[in-house]
Amino acid sequence: MTDGASLVHLDWAEAAELIQRSQNIAVVTHVYPDGDAIGSMMGLVLALRQHGKQATPVVDGGLPRQFAFVPGGEEILKGADGLSPDLVISTDASDLERLGKAGAALRNLDCPFIQLDHHQTNLLFGDVDLVDARTVASAEVVFDWLEQLGWTPSRDVAQALLTGIVTDTMCFRTSNVTAETLAKSQRLMSYGADLAGIVQRTLARQPFGLIRLYGQVLPRIRLDNGIIWVKVLAEDYKAVDMEIGEYNGLSGYLIQADEAMISVVFKQMSDREIEVSMRAVPGFDVSQVALELGGGGHRLASGCTLRGVDMEGAVQKVMDRLQVEIARGKPLYT
Ligand code: 5GP
Ligand code: MN
Repeated sequence: MTDGASLVHLDWAEAAELIQRSQNIAVVTHVYPDGDAIGSMMGLVLALRQHGKQATPVVDGGLPRQFAFVPGGEEILKGADGLSPDLVISTDASDLERLGKAGAALRNLDCPFIQLDHHQTNLLFGDVDLVDARTVASAEVVFDWLEQLGWTPSRDVAQALLTGIVTDTMCFRTSNVTAETLAKSQRLMSYGADLAGIVQRTLARQPFGLIRLYGQVLPRIRLDNGIIWVKVLAEDYKAVDMEIGEYNGLSGYLIQADEAMISVVFKQMSDREIEVSMRAVPGFDVSQVALELGGGGHRLASGCTLRGVDMEGAVQKVMDRLQVEIARGKPLYT
């Protein structure tokens, strides 16, 4: 898939028909949600409500506190218990497992399931799939859908959608940003989205605990043959009073090292569960390694969750595969 075509699979007509005949819609996004997960889900939920539908947002584990500013965020349910929707839509997940227990429960209901996503590694696991890996964010796919339907976003919808675009592009800095991305973002701003407010609440500010966590783990940082990597242990989170797995971003920081082509952060979630977060510079591809290991993502930003291995086993498994990619790739910008 490296340097190949982007995955595009857009069943717009089927999706529109399902929306038209449904009244009670559950929208679910992935575990440990980021700004695009929350932004794409809430943008869609609020747009559906604007058009007379009942819409319920669900995230296995609930809303992380840093996204409490996203309109409607306080209504997100932690699980799917007791829901009986006539349509389920998932956003920003490339496979069913990524939606956690809530997703599995909703997928098992006797109603249609639309999945909307922008990951190159998407497994097309919906009854109807809306996947466009040319877009920078799932929120952009939601916006494309609203424009298809002729639905004008309210200010709150625009705010949620621009949150997804801004966070997934690190404020328009990633190499997938095009003139179209900027044009759509401009339209969202014209509908009332507040770019400066989004940047301040997501990218520009971090909890003190996260900065202390960096201080805790950076002395152990390694650079081996173009791969910069570090382990984050359960006791590191404890030392800075943070929840295990709370907040991401370290792999994105590490990839800034001039000498690195790939960055990897290994996070110990429990004894035998390791979350792997990878970044690459343009010219390399970490998505296939993530996919092979049961995860997914984009060429330059991917991840997977390894279960049944300890930290050392996880490091070995991932580093071995990444050596192959280091040998294959070539940096696009030197
Ligand atoms: P991050 O490193 O920021 O956690 O994730 C980078 C990208 O990889 C995101 O697009 C995210 O959705 C994807 N990703 C991270 N972990 C997993 C995982 O366990 N499974 C899947 N399918 N994708 C993941
Ligand atoms: Mn995304």
